[in-house]
Amino acid sequence: MQFREELEKIRTYEAGKPIELIAREFGVADNEIVKLASNENPFGTSPKVKAKIAELIGKMHRYPDDSYFALKTALAAKYGVENGNIIIGGGSDQIFEFITHALLERGDIVLQNKISFAMYAIYAAQVGAQTIRTDTNRHDLNAFEKLLIENPKLIYICSPSNPYGDALDKEDIFTFLQKVSDQTLVVIDAAYMEYAAFKDKRKLIEPKELTDRFPNAIYAGTFSKAYGLGGMRVGYAIAQKGIIEALHKIRAPFNITTLSLAAAIEALNDQAFVAKSAEHNFKEMARYEAFAGEFGLTYEPSYANFIALLFSKDRSASAAANALLKRGMIVRDLASYDLNAIRVTIGLESENDRFFELFRELWR
Ligand SMILES: *Cc1c(COP(=O)(O)O)cnc(C)c1O
Repeated sequence: MQFREELEKIRTYEAGKPIELIAREFGVADNEIVKLASNENPFGTSPKVKAKIAELIGKMHRYPDDSYFALKTALAAKYGVENGNIIIGGGSDQIFEFITHALLERGDIVLQNKISFAMYAIYAAQVGAQTIRTDTNRHDLNAFEKLLIENPKLIYICSPSNPYGDALDKEDIFTFLQKVSDQTLVVIDAAYMEYAAFKDKRKLIEPKELTDRFPNAIYAGTFSKAYGLGGMRVGYAIAQKGIIEALHKIRAPFNITTLSLAAAIEALNDQAFVAKSAEHNFKEMARYEAFAGEFGLTYEPSYANFIALLFSKDRSASAAANALLKRGMIVRDLASYDLNAIRVTIGLESENDRFFELFRELWR
């Protein structure tokens, strides 16, 4: 079978290893495995969401309200926008896919940071668009600006950035946006914004202010991280109505489920859960920073719910990740990003203790 030529260049995205797989491969019991690999919320999901799902369990035979009216209304109230400014996706990932298919043609240029979320380039490659990257690990807007000369049709700015953890100041992003052509769509991937906003208000980007000032910008948020709903697959994007209308032409009906929809609405109602998650996150992150110092690792100050630990040349981060894996500790090896580093999601206190303990054993 001859599939489209573009597909030959695409490497299938490797998702974080699920607990079930490690249990099978290494014969470790399920409940002894600690997964600090996919930036999930260690507290799980808000109890209010769980109660709502229990209540709605008998509704699975019903399709959801495909306009997602209640969820859009709740998001619109939170962000001070209108329902028509919002699109809902099966994770914000799916919205990047909508954007790709609505905007990009073969040969178009997509600009992103040197290391960034792998799916941006995979979607671009699907339609034969070309991804160009800055040359710095950290998001550096001067490096982005230099590449504007390539006339990108789409730019991704991920703040806080995955997998590095750095975040940009709002004012710097706005200054950069003034230099971008109004024919270029700029995605602000704000998957970890709830964490950054807790740590430093200068990092907070309000979607309304962003899209009022820059009609070519789109803000992408998700319920997968601070809201603890990775398994439910709900994301959203906010932009001016013309952009949202174009994206809706790509969206299939019922792209999130009846239960996901209810979960997201309920999760938005429990902001205390989000605040507790963010507070815990940075309290525990300080322990990782101290730990890194103790072992001669360096780290990028992180505004998200993970930390990238950078190894010196004489130590292999991949080997450490594999050794941890055999003991039931799943972290993310960043070798595929050309970094001798691991990314560790900040876990519960006991999970972080276990990481420190295993790492200490292995390091000798
Ligand atoms: C997790 C993540 C997303 C969103 O993922 P979904 O689960 O698809 O909503 C988007 N961007 C980055 C950088 C992420 O890490």
